[in-house]
This record gives sequence, C-alpha cells and structure tokens, in this order.
Amino acid sequence: MTFDTDLFVIGGGSGGVRAARIAAAEGGARVALAEESRMGGTCVIRGCVPKKLMVFASAFPELVEDAAAYGWRVKSEGFDWPKFRTSLEAELDRLENAYRNTLKSAGVTIHDARATVVDPHTVRLSTGETVTTKHILIATGGWPFVPDIPGRELAITSNEIFHLDTLPKRALVVGGGYIASEFACILHGLGVETTQYYRGAAILRGFDDESRGHVANAMQARGIDIHCGTDVLRLEQTATGIRAVATDGTEREFDLVLYATGRRPNSVGLGLEELGVKFGRNGEILVDDWSQTAVPSIYAVGDVTDRVNLTPVAIREGHAFADTVFRGVPTRFDHDLIPSAVFTQPELGSVGLTEEQAREQEEIEVYSATFRPMKTLFAGRPDRVLMKLIVSAATRKVLGCHIVAPDAGELIQLAAIAIRMGATKEDFDRTVAVHPTMAEELVTMRKPTRKA
Ligand code: NDP
Repeated sequence: MTFDTDLFVIGGGSGGVRAARIAAAEGGARVALAEESRMGGTCVIRGCVPKKLMVFASAFPELVEDAAAYGWRVKSEGFDWPKFRTSLEAELDRLENAYRNTLKSAGVTIHDARATVVDPHTVRLSTGETVTTKHILIATGGWPFVPDIPGRELAITSNEIFHLDTLPKRALVVGGGYIASEFACILHGLGVETTQYYRGAAILRGFDDESRGHVANAMQARGIDIHCGTDVLRLEQTATGIRAVATDGTEREFDLVLYATGRRPNSVGLGLEELGVKFGRNGEILVDDWSQTAVPSIYAVGDVTDRVNLTPVAIREGHAFADTVFRGVPTRFDHDLIPSAVFTQPELGSVGLTEEQAREQEEIEVYSATFRPMKTLFAGRPDRVLMKLIVSAATRKVLGCHIVAPDAGELIQLAAIAIRMGATKEDFDRTVAVHPTMAEELVTMRKPTRKA
C-alpha cells in the first residue's frame, strides 16, 4: 500500500518538531506536521521560554539593591509591564518563526490545522483534507488542569499569565509544584504582593526534603506569604477583586488568582479511543519503551504520555522515535537520572535520588553544606546556599545532588554529567576546587553530615 507520507506528526511542540526534523532531514522520510495553535508548543509559547524571561525580569530589583550595596549610585524607577510584554511577544514571534523555518528547511510539510486520527493510517485535518500515512506520532502535549471549584472561571492559569493587560497588586497562587512556586517568585519579584496556598505540608513535593524546605524558607524570607495545608474552597467576584474562601477559614481578596494545580495530557478528541490506543488514569497515552502505543503504526512522545514532563525529555523521546523508525538505529530513551531545575528565587537544581529515596534503597552518607555566598553576603543579604550530595556507603557512588543557589540550574547540569558517568565521592574529592565559587563546596565537603 502506498501512503501520502511516511510520518504524520500531530503537535508542533518540542517533541513533535524534533521527531519530524530528524525523520525528514536524517531519515529521508516524507513528513507532515499539523499544529492547531502556534508552532513551538508549550515550552516556546506558554512555558519555559516566556517563564524564564519573566524570571530574569523579576530578578532585577534585588540586583539593583545589590548594586547599590556595591557602591553604584542606582535607583529603580519601577517596572514597565507593557514594555516587557511587547518585547516578550516579539521574542516569541521570532522563536516561532525559527521553529517553522527549521521544519521547512528539513522538508517537512506544515499544516496549520487541527488533526484527528481516522484510522491507523489516516489523519483528517480541520481544513477538510485527509492524509494517509505509514506512521502517526502524537505529540500534543498537556494543558493546565483547574479543579472544579465554584468560581473557577475567575482564575487564570499559566497559559494566560503572559498576556495580562496590567500586573495585579495582590495575587494568589494556588498549588505547590514547579509552576506555582516559580510564579509566586516571579510575581513577588515584579512587585506584586504574593500569597501561595498549597494543600500539602510543604511545597515542591517529590524534591529532596531539606532542599525544598530551604527554598520555602528563602521564599518566605523574601516576603512571599506561603500557606501550607490550605486550599481554596470557592472563588467569588467582589466589587474590588476576587475573594478566595479557603479551607483554613479565611476569606481574603486578591486582584488575580493563578491556578497551577498540575497539567493533564492533551489526548481527548483525537479519535484514538476508537482505534484501540490505551490510556492511563489521567488520560495519558500508554506507550512502551519505544514510545509505541497499542496500535503499531501510532507512537506518542512528550507530555501526552505523562512520563517525565520536561522539554528536554520530550525532545529525547522524539529523537529516539525518529532514530528507531526512520534511521534504522533502535534507540530507547533512558528516563533515569534526569536533571531538572525549579526556577524559584533561589533556584533548586536536582539530579538523582533524594535523601529520602536513597535511604529506602541502601545505606547512605549525606554531605550537606549551607553557607552565605560571597556575592550576596557582601551586599548584606541573609541568603544561604545549600549544596548536598547523597553517597552510597557501599559503592561510594554519588546517587544524588541537590543545589539551592543562584544559577543552580546551570550548576546541576554539570554535576549531572559526573553522576551520569558514575562518579564516586572520591572522584568529586579528587577534583580541584575552582576558587572562589559557590560550587567549590561540592568538591570540598570532607565529612558526612549524617549517615542513614
Ligand atoms: P506539578 O504536578 O508539579 O504540581 C501540581 C501542584 O498542584 C501540586 O502541588 C499538587 O499538590 C497541586 N494540586 C493538584 N491537584 C490539586 C487540586 N485538585 N487542588 C489543589 N491542589 C492541587 O504541576 P505544575 O502544574 O506545577 O507543572 C506541570 C509539569 O510541568 C511539572 O510536573 C513539570 O514536569 C513541568 N514543569 C517543569 C518546569 C521546570 O523544569 N522548571 C517548570 C514548570 C513546569 P500535591 O503535591 O498535593 O499533589
């Protein structure tokens, strides 16, 4: 049987674009890709990229204060949100075009349309067109989830935050994960009076306990009003704002309520249920190690599979799929030891096992140091950095590394290489310190803080 294309990709985000490009440019495949929204997906349009630019924007007030402490005669005259937003939109337009051009130069046919699957080898577009294809890749990502509480329509999600007309005076952030904690810091940094409600006992569940405690303390010390064990019962519009009625019995008014209570896979309405593709409890598409679904011609990568929901993971999954199916290089992406960073202020960088996970597994030594880094100490800030290594008592391998510090995302990337290579504590010790830096602490911690 002959098909119109070899591969039809649904979704122009990080995973879909990588798979399409590699299949076309390096695998010689005829590839088509459909995207109903803007090319680039969550990461580029409404996630990592605009978020990180907002993180940068929100850090300046402290930099200005520190500059003054270093002797500079400077004064901040406030933040111009419309100016920033205009530049941000221009940058996103540039990136979207770059994604589009990358696909075009790889020879991928782009459809600016919604696509649904008709049968294992046919895709229908919202334009009415039908395309037959040997393989289908679902890379439709995820979408913010807001629990069904009265007044939920008064809240916004991370999708809308980049488009605000004005910055609010008082904001409530609901949730305790990556997005909630990052935006609590961003809003606070931009001068918004920020409150965070989290239903659990401590924010950033899943991260190393000591590290997330360190981040939460630092956020509170900066002035973010974090309430753990607190959830919203309902939201009500008032003449002057949005009233949040909470489980702790309080009723407080805000100008903006941002829900960051997780994301759900974008898997509904694609026509997959009827074909025998299997789904998990949250609607995630179930795939094997090769990202293949229960229907052999249909594959899925990225957030829609809800494995590890990070851009670089989607990219690797998409690349591995293209290598396997179109380049004759069978590749399984290994989901172990994935480093990540939470871009709070201070940042949290993490790779490998947390202390709690490692204790469950074997006998460990914990090396942990907290100190005031030179740069902010000089400026009179109380900020403390945390450097932490989890070491196997038996093999001496470093099982995990957790860093709470300015630029922890940059630092953890490098530590992750050593840990991925199987470095032992003695390998770290043999490495000469770069002085004076914060990261030198990683190679100078001689005595374990505790054994467990
Ligand atoms: P997370 O899953 O990280 O956090 C969701 C938060 O919402 C948790 O604190 C959760 O509480 C809470 N929650 C869930 N359901 C409810 C509910 N019904 N009522 C009240 N609270 C609720 O999701 P995010 O939205 O923050 O991020 C989505 C994904 O995006 C992350 O998993 C991450 O992989 C990725 N991401 C990565 C970033 C990075 O690498 N820097 C940045 C942003 C996102 P509980 O803990 O009790 O379940």
